[in-house]
Amino acid sequence: MKKLSKTLFLFFLSLNMLGFPFGFPVIQSQNLTSVEAKAKNLGSAKKLKGNTIIISIFANDKQTKWNIKKKEDTTYMSNTLKDLRIATTWISTKAKKYKTTSKFVYDWSKNKDLKYHAVFKNNLIEPYGAYYHKQINYIKKNIKINALKKKYKADNVIFMFFFNTTHTKNDVRSWTYSTICDSSIYYEITNIYNYFDNGNFSYFTPAATYAHEILHSFGAPDLYYSNSMISQKYVNYLKSIGSHDIMYTVNLGDKITCQFTELDAYYTGLKKTAKDVKKWNLGKSEHF
Ligand SMILES: [Zn+2]
Repeated sequence: MKKLSKTLFLFFLSLNMLGFPFGFPVIQSQNLTSVEAKAKNLGSAKKLKGNTIIISIFANDKQTKWNIKKKEDTTYMSNTLKDLRIATTWISTKAKKYKTTSKFVYDWSKNKDLKYHAVFKNNLIEPYGAYYHKQINYIKKNIKINALKKKYKADNVIFMFFFNTTHTKNDVRSWTYSTICDSSIYYEITNIYNYFDNGNFSYFTPAATYAHEILHSFGAPDLYYSNSMISQKYVNYLKSIGSHDIMYTVNLGDKITCQFTELDAYYTGLKKTAKDVKKWNLGKSEHF
């Protein structure tokens, strides 16, 4: 029993990196004017509050594609709805604990204008937001954002690109490019690679990763490596306590067993302070 729980624990930790690091300077920050800097650009998803629409974009690229005539592929597509439901329900429940109503509209089977198909010539199974500009060009050309925001009374918009990596040897983890990576951007995008396989272990991207990526758009940083907001000391501390913070680690399966901590609440704008920020000298929330 003890051995089993240790194995599970190690497996849990090994999944730390299901979400991809942010903050790599692939996209150069444009110099903000003082007015822009003052306006504090929070991107298309601001506080974790009010109504959020998630726009699903099923993307083909040089190596991967969705074949809507294939049962296998349509099943994978439908599975994204299941994972979005689990992830958004979990987030809404956590927000409620901070007396905040946070609702998500994502169901493209009911709302056809929340689902798109994109074709890219490049290989987009890449880390770091490598083709961010190509992806936002697609959004600008094909999605009537203002009309959708009005229709759904949306405060926030998240653009989620889905790639069918089941038939490739994919070792790129899902990632999000948001204002915590580059404070001058507007479009907060997530790339979900539905299948991961690095030769050692493989998995279908779980609902917990969806939740982790969505929280990035609202301002939560990764906690499993040091970055501009999180010190190595804090990462070591989380490791030493076996943290289950969803920004530190995620779990497989259809039930999210990770924690939404006070620190996540702080970074997503639900709580004005978090004791770990002062104690560990962590970066400031984009919201306060
Ligand atoms: Zn992440």
